[in-house]
Order: sequence, then C-alpha cells, then structure tokens
Amino acid sequence: MDRQELAERLFPGVSETPQEIMDRYPPRKLPEGAAVTRMAPSPTGFMHLGNLYGAITDERIAHRSGGVFMLRIEDTDAKRAVEGGVQKIIEVFDRFGLNFDEGALADGETGAYGPYRQRQRERIYKVFAKALFLAGRAYPCFATEEELEAIRQEQAAKNENPGYYGKYAVWRDAPAERIAEALDAGREYVIRYRSEGDPAQKAVCTDLIRGRLEVPQNDSDLVLLKSDGIPTYHFAHVVDDTLMGTTHVVRGEEWLATLPYHLDMFRTMRELFGWKTPKYLHTAHMLKMEDGHKRKLSKRKDPELALDFYRSGGYPERALIEYLMTILNSNYEEWRAANPDADWRDFPFSVKKMSSSGALFDMEKLRDVSKNVISRMTADEVLAGVLGWSAEFDPELHALLDADRDYARAIFAIGRGGAKPRKDLVTWADARGYLDFFYDGLFRPVYALPACADGAAAAAILRDYAGAFDPADDRDGWFARVKSLAARFGFAPETKLWKQDPAAYRGHVGDVSMILRSALTGRTNSPDLYDVCSLLGADRVRARLSAAADALSEN
Ligand code: GLU
Repeated sequence: MDRQELAERLFPGVSETPQEIMDRYPPRKLPEGAAVTRMAPSPTGFMHLGNLYGAITDERIAHRSGGVFMLRIEDTDAKRAVEGGVQKIIEVFDRFGLNFDEGALADGETGAYGPYRQRQRERIYKVFAKALFLAGRAYPCFATEEELEAIRQEQAAKNENPGYYGKYAVWRDAPAERIAEALDAGREYVIRYRSEGDPAQKAVCTDLIRGRLEVPQNDSDLVLLKSDGIPTYHFAHVVDDTLMGTTHVVRGEEWLATLPYHLDMFRTMRELFGWKTPKYLHTAHMLKMEDGHKRKLSKRKDPELALDFYRSGGYPERALIEYLMTILNSNYEEWRAANPDADWRDFPFSVKKMSSSGALFDMEKLRDVSKNVISRMTADEVLAGVLGWSAEFDPELHALLDADRDYARAIFAIGRGGAKPRKDLVTWADARGYLDFFYDGLFRPVYALPACADGAAAAAILRDYAGAFDPADDRDGWFARVKSLAARFGFAPETKLWKQDPAAYRGHVGDVSMILRSALTGRTNSPDLYDVCSLLGADRVRARLSAAADALSEN
C-alpha cells in the first residue's frame, strides 16, 4: 500500500489541498506595521485576571498599530466547555471596553478569517495533517494508553526526558503494511508530528517581553490530531495563527515549556508551505505575596483571581484596567500623574516596558486605584456604575436610586469635580454606606456628641437650630447662621477665637457643626453639611433635628 492510499484511509473525505485552504486566507490589507492579535480563551466559564491582562496587551498592540484584534474560541476540549461560556467571554470583554474587530460572537461570528471556533475548523486541521503525512512529516500512532504509560515509567526510572521520541517512538517508522494491518484491525490511533529536531542543537526565538530565548530543539513526536480527530492546542495554534494572520501571539508564560514544539512545527511548515513564525510575547504570571513569599495566584485558593470577584464586589471596570496598566507598563503611573484626566488608551503603551518577572497583584493598591478612579468620575458616571452594580447585587438600593435619579445624581455630585474630590467610594458596594442617610428608609441614626456638650445641651442647640434653619440661605448665609447659633450657646463662632482663649468658651463652631451633623446624618463624618441640608430639604432637616433633640434629651 503506498502513502497516498494510506492517506486516503487515514483522512477519509479530506480532498482539499493546503494551497486551496491558504488561498482562502489571503494576507490582510493593513497599513505597514499593523499588528494582528487574538485572544484565544477556552469557553470554560472562568475568566480571570490573567485573561484580562493578556487581553489588554493584545488590544493595545493591535489598536495602537492600526491592526486587528480577534476573538478565537478554543473549544477543542469538550469536557471543559460550559454552556454559555462564549457568551460570558464576550460580555466580559465588552464590559471592559476591549472591543474585538473580528471573531466569535455570542451566536455566529464576524470577519473573513474564520471560522473562529476551533471545533468548526476540524476539516482545515485535517487537510494540513494529511499534507504533513504525505510529506513524511506525520504518521499514525497506534500506541495504547498502557504502552504510553510504560514508556513514561521507563523514562522516569532512567531519568530521561518524557515524551514520544527516539527509540520510544515505535510507530515513527512503521512500514505501510503494519499501519494498514492496524487500520484493518480497527485499532484506535492518533496522528503524530514527525519531528526532525535535535535536542543537542538550539532553537532560537526572540520573545518581545523576554528577549532572546535559546531552547534545546524539540525531538518529541507530539500529537497533532487526537483519536477523535480533534487537534491538540499545539497544532491548532500553528495552523490557526498562520491562517488568521496573527502577527503577535500574546499568551501566558505556562506556554514557554512547549514553545520548542511550536518553533519546531513552524520550521517544518516554513519548509513545506512557506509559513512564518509569529512574534511571541509570554506574559508573566499573576503573583501574590503570602507570608513574605510570592506565589502564583491560584484558581482554587484565591477568589480574587476570578473576574467575577470584582464584578460582584463592585469594582469599576476602569479601575481594574487602570490598575493592570500600572503592572503592565512601569511608566504608566508617572504618565497618569501628569495626565490625570486622560483616557487610558492615550497612554503610549509599549511592549518594551513589559516585565518578564511575575506581576505582583496587590489588592490594597487596586483599592487605592479604584478610589481615585471613582473620585474623578462625573456624578452621572458614578450613578450609572452604582445602578448597574446594584441592579444585580443590591436590588433594594437600586430601587431607591432608580425611583428618583436626579436626587441620586445630586448626592453623588457633592464634593465632586474640584481639584480635591471626595474619595468616599472604593467600590460601588460602598455607595450604600455612603448615602444611606439621604434616604429615610435607610437612615439609622447614631448620635455622637463632642465631649463639651451633653445630651441636654445638644438638644437645646438642635431645637434652636430647627427654628432658625432657613432653606433659602446660600452657603455663606447658612454658615453665618451656624456661627450665630454657636455664639448664642457660648461656643466660639470661629475656631481661631477659641484657640486664643479656650477657657472663655464651651467649645467652638466645629463642635456645634458636629452636633448638627450627628443629628442630620447619624455620623461623625459626612459630605458638606450645607449640601446635605439642601438635598434633604427643609422638612426632613427639621424633622431630623427634632427627632435627635427628643432622643438626646431623654438620655
Ligand atoms: N486556549 C489557550 C489558553 O486559554 C490559549 C493560549 C494562547 O493564547 O495561545 O491558555
């Protein structure tokens, strides 16, 4: 039986030629230097910080160069795929504003370089596997699981590299008759790559993050197609990234270990079809500090690895991007300090500034970044953020805010927009604690008094103020009224006066404000009291002052 006949038995119905396929994927018409990148997640339903870190890198490389950012779904492992997994991936990147130009959509796809779901590309992989077989660079392997396990054990006992190579690769040079016999017997097989690499020689690759990498050449005959005809990651990577025109492969550093396979395969594909190895960027793992040591963030141990953690926790997407940018490019923070209001995309993102050592994830830093990001948002943006989050995670709050959006917006507008904006919110989840006293249904007063006033004195001050309060006062008029209230009760109307002669007063205007603040907001720290009074309105101000006076005089 000759090779051609065997090929027909191994790849029944695969009649297209590599050239026919390649003709369907012509080079893109893009400006000189434009990069094509892709995000290639498996639809497992689990999206993590590493995915986002990689996606930002992909998106920036593509869009800063006028190129293309694709979404390819790596769904070859049916066991790991979950229902709705693709939808979730798309939603996540959409929320982060990382927009794909091409690729899978929740249903269907867009772009001329698809299909963008690997399961729909089975025939394409087979065409190239068949061509490799015909060129003597691939072969069927009928080794059973038990035989492979015996090889693994022997290699481990002899301290040899694991893999299917050299004398262990028993099917590598099997004569056609033996293969035909095995096929006749209906034995299961995989298609393996026939490596011609020599581990005594080096394969060289310049990783754009890590610089020049020299690795021993691969000599393992890795699996191209599994027994069900589905490709391995390695083969699908080489075929897809070539046909789709990927120029830069951004992927996690866990793929460095198998880089020699890919370099080996690309060398063969160059010989056979003129393919070019793409540029690689192996990104650093996310690490965390634990007991003074750095360790990889783990899906099992660290809930903060999952992007869902930040969504339910109410972290604005922009805060996560902002924070990851500080890890991605060491000069980002300096740029941000000089351009506090610029869009993060205006930053001159550079691959050269990416670090190859682990990316240390610091929750406190993220929280700090988030607080600053929110403090610079407009009241409308904050309202939209809180509404979006609370719709899902705090429906009671959502209903309150939604019932009167103007009121809610005005609450978020207090202390916003100036050079020193208030920083009350780290996450959208903090909104409830920040604004509860603006809603009678949420207001739970706890009255705290300064040491210089007892309950009876505070009650007298509050009753007086309830009568004196005039909603028509402007900010200055409001403050003048609080000062005269202070003076009436023996408090210094200016802190300065009190400092000059503390013995002459019961306290100062700040103490009086504190009593008012406590009565109106139930706390010792609140946004500007004049703004609070204006928003609460005269009726509610008077009602709260009286209620507090009653409660305090009872004690
Ligand atoms: N599906 C692979 C992963 O999720 C993609 C790696 C790559 O980007 O090539 O790790």
